[in-house]
Amino acid sequence: MTTTIVRQGAPAHPRRSMTIPTAIPDGTLRCAYYHPRLAPWFGLAVLFAIAILARAAVAAPSDTYDAAHLSSVELERLAFAGRLLGGVRNFQRQPFLLLTDAPDLNGPAVLAALDAVYQWTRRDFPFLLPPRRAVPLIVFASDQEFNAFWRRLGSPSRVSLEAVPQGVAGRTIESVATCRFQERPEGGLPLYVHEASHALLHQMFGIGAGGNWLAEGVATNYEWQVSQPDVHAVRAGLADPGGRMPLETLLNGERVPRERYWQAALVVQWLLDDPLRRVQLPTLFAAMREEGSVDARQLVGRYLGMSVNDVEEAWLTWAHAQYSG
Ligand SMILES: [Zn+2]
Repeated sequence: MTTTIVRQGAPAHPRRSMTIPTAIPDGTLRCAYYHPRLAPWFGLAVLFAIAILARAAVAAPSDTYDAAHLSSVELERLAFAGRLLGGVRNFQRQPFLLLTDAPDLNGPAVLAALDAVYQWTRRDFPFLLPPRRAVPLIVFASDQEFNAFWRRLGSPSRVSLEAVPQGVAGRTIESVATCRFQERPEGGLPLYVHEASHALLHQMFGIGAGGNWLAEGVATNYEWQVSQPDVHAVRAGLADPGGRMPLETLLNGERVPRERYWQAALVVQWLLDDPLRRVQLPTLFAAMREEGSVDARQLVGRYLGMSVNDVEEAWLTWAHAQYSG
């Protein structure tokens, strides 16, 4: 349907009129807005709306936070709320973002270790896509701030988070890694590397962020790159069936106890050590992602061609050859 202007003798662009009456062929009139005149008002309305939205975002945390999608600015605000500017430092090297209020943290050294974690992850799992967002690691100077951050993050995201247990110095949930600053650099670096690896793998693989055999195995291996593996504990676990978990349990996708992280690390090493298994890994990973779980008990049969018992036997033989000296 076309419209025609019926006001006779009116200027082509009537400057004092807010509306232009137009006729529709059936004889009725309607008014159309005169856009050039309204444009400034429209612009003001848009600015006003943006100001209200921006103020709401700045003034109070939204109740729909998703920790995985917080921007670096939001994270910094949430981590160090009320902190004077200048007390917080941030270091960036793709894909990591390191935030800290610990004055003695050697940012460049930690960043170099995180960069190594990224290179190792790409070397070991070249079929995973690079992260699309920054991977944050937040190092808190005090236990108080460390705990307060998780309370602040937990409450708006409506996730009920347990308080960080006494003595636990690192926690990663989804792709947000956090640590308590460690005075001794040799104690700090392995911890930062471990937690950052969880957050990185979560973004690149998308399943879990710690706790299961894959996440803990990968993180522990990278941790061992910047510290010494406890070879005595590894040997003791290999020598005594009571000192390790049956793979039927270890690979079930559930939480692995901290004292068995070494075993998860050795299983990941075993997976990466053989050229055939390396070729099989992309389809195994794709299947785990499809299932939304790292429960590998059935999948090893389908994608490695071995039952869990076969894997256990082959892994143990390999591990003894590597570590029992
Ligand atoms: Zn861990």
